[in-house]
Amino acid sequence: MQTIRAAVCRAFNEPLVIEDVLLAPPGTGEVEVTLDAVAICHSDITFASGAWGGHLPAVYGHEAAGVITATGDAVGGFDVGDPVVVTLIRACGSCPSCAGGKPTICETPYDTVKGPLQTADGGPLEQAMACGAFAEKVVVSHRQIVKIPETMPKDVASLLSCGVITGVGAAVNAAKLRPGQDVVVIGAGGVGLNAIQGARLAGARRIVAVDMTEEKLEIAKEFGATHGVLASLDRPWKAAFKALGGRGADAVLITVGAIPAYDQAPRYLGRGGKAIMIGMPHSGDLSTYEPVVLAALGQGVVGSKMGDVVIQRDIPWMIDLYEQGRLKLDELISGRWSLHQINEAIADTKTGSAKRNVILFNRD
Ligand SMILES: [Zn+2]
Ligand SMILES: [Zn+2]
Repeated sequence: MQTIRAAVCRAFNEPLVIEDVLLAPPGTGEVEVTLDAVAICHSDITFASGAWGGHLPAVYGHEAAGVITATGDAVGGFDVGDPVVVTLIRACGSCPSCAGGKPTICETPYDTVKGPLQTADGGPLEQAMACGAFAEKVVVSHRQIVKIPETMPKDVASLLSCGVITGVGAAVNAAKLRPGQDVVVIGAGGVGLNAIQGARLAGARRIVAVDMTEEKLEIAKEFGATHGVLASLDRPWKAAFKALGGRGADAVLITVGAIPAYDQAPRYLGRGGKAIMIGMPHSGDLSTYEPVVLAALGQGVVGSKMGDVVIQRDIPWMIDLYEQGRLKLDELISGRWSLHQINEAIADTKTGSAKRNVILFNRD
């Protein structure tokens, strides 16, 4: 066991506490990654609010990048010194979902409370989301990481771990958009902007962003939205139909957790269209829809976790597109903070105006 600094959640809805915790060495199939950067995702905030339950104390944080500093046995060719991104997708590689090409819905349970973290006095400490990346180091499965170029800045790379793959993957893998299709993206936050980028990369004809403020609709246009609709309008789908030449969308990508967005999403669809549920509402929240309409119009509503990505397949091409200037990543970062500022960074993210706040560990 070694001692590292981490931001620990000791009580829901309370500030995280920076303290020393214990980290076990990597076991078989695992690596230790010393982190340079971890971004704050809304999922971290939802967990810290208690809305999804979970054990306390816990270390959240799951959009990270750093360098491998130790390895266990059988780590699939990774080596000490490799720069990597760390994702929360701890897939076993052999269950029916993994074997079927869907590692984001791996069926093999992983006990995050019995993971590599302990409190300084040896008590249980949850490695939330199989990462626990609000900490100087993580120990994770080699299946959760992907190598990145030495030259790629880690703050930028960290965004690939969740927000980017979830948004772009939702457009490309889940909605399977093809050139010429029309899409509505509800929410122009960290995931929504990436869903917009994914739709643009897929060749969408018209990309309508729906959000609560004009400011966010303007940002959405910088990422590829062709039209913007204020969600506060009475029947905002009418404005979307107008933008789409009088018909509904081939796909609507719901990137927020607010239930009204789920209730309204099918209204934006054209015949044969699909609504893709990407955002993560609180446990127990319910949405309603009118089945006869979906049946009569041949529409669908389907969930997508983490953009249905296969990280080893999808992250490398996203890195290439970034390096070619075709995928915006630098522009997604709205603030850089140190670990001891993490509660301020979280508060800033909660205001909803930030794109992504990134914690930098500033190690030598
Ligand atoms: Zn996330
Ligand atoms: Zn699996």
